[in-house]
Amino acid sequence: MPPVYQTSTFAYESPDKPYVFDYSRSGNPTRQYLENALAQLEHGCKAFAFASGLAAETAVVFLCNAGDHILACEDLYGGTFRLLKQVAEQKGIAVTFVDMTDLDAVRRAFKSNTKLVWLESPSNPLMKVLDLQAIAEYAREHGALSVCDNTFLSPYFQNPLDWGIDIVVHSTTKYLNGHSDVVGGAVIVRDDTLAEKIYFLQNAMGAVPGPWDCFLVLRGLRTLPVRMEAHHANALKLAEWLRTHPAVEAVLHPCLSDEDTRVRFARYARGAGGMFSFRIRGGAEAARRVLSRLRLFTQAVSLGGVESLVAYPWNMTHAAVPPEVKNNVGITENLLRLSVGLEDWEDLRDDLEQALSP
Ligand SMILES: *Cc1c(COP(=O)(O)O)cnc(C)c1O
Repeated sequence: MPPVYQTSTFAYESPDKPYVFDYSRSGNPTRQYLENALAQLEHGCKAFAFASGLAAETAVVFLCNAGDHILACEDLYGGTFRLLKQVAEQKGIAVTFVDMTDLDAVRRAFKSNTKLVWLESPSNPLMKVLDLQAIAEYAREHGALSVCDNTFLSPYFQNPLDWGIDIVVHSTTKYLNGHSDVVGGAVIVRDDTLAEKIYFLQNAMGAVPGPWDCFLVLRGLRTLPVRMEAHHANALKLAEWLRTHPAVEAVLHPCLSDEDTRVRFARYARGAGGMFSFRIRGGAEAARRVLSRLRLFTQAVSLGGVESLVAYPWNMTHAAVPPEVKNNVGITENLLRLSVGLEDWEDLRDDLEQALSP
């Protein structure tokens, strides 16, 4: 196993002869092991590790200059929404959010200065599934780069770069690390010119992860396949069970959606992982009652760990999104999002059953 190079600086042989590494912001051996592994898993040429998922996203946003335009899917991670709306827009980068399941809407929203197209599939928290290839092709034909946040499925279930997407971003905090003990992020690309630009930004902006965190994510990666299969099996059983429950209005799971969505999902993804959402009958009050009653599911943001979590997107993960936007998009007050862990699924089902009982 690779050692933790808990080292900030590396000896030069002479002023013009640095060792392979010279300073750990610019590169660190433990980080490089992680970056190589991530590049291979996502079928990219290079990966870059960051101190958080949002630090990784920030580097991608910085590919844009003032005057450029970013087109993003409307239902996406709350922190990404905030980064685009409250940081990028303040710096003169215009942002438009559209429902990207509607390709005509994507075409209509495209502008001559559109530089980045930001996708999340399945989306958070509504589990919408996008046509990655069609959107990537449209972006390329119109001179824009496409970015896909692949945090929910991980490279075990989906490889956006294979479909023409230019950039994959990850919050390695989630499934890649998988044990809820690290915050980290990554950018993966399949083009050398783009890799150079991201490397420049990683080093120039400096939001790099420490070697110990890289070591932990690497360790998590080694069990990614068994974890993802187990998350998927547990979540699907619970989603199927919830779908028949009288207190549940709707279950949002990509494998249990309408036929078009299921076909699209099967084209791009080999499984769904542990994430899905559902709507409770009875509105905000009913949702809050279920939250307070759940015992095995911990009320928490984040996802992708071995333990099951329940989030209330309205107030937690998507608190940064204005209420009218949430309502328009369908992030309603009766929506709960589950990150299904690796516990016995029948224990999880019993917990949901007691929490949903009248
Ligand atoms: C958590 C998350 C992020 C942000 O990552 P951090 O590591 O929390 O900065 C981005 N996208 C998705 C889909 C996430 O779940």
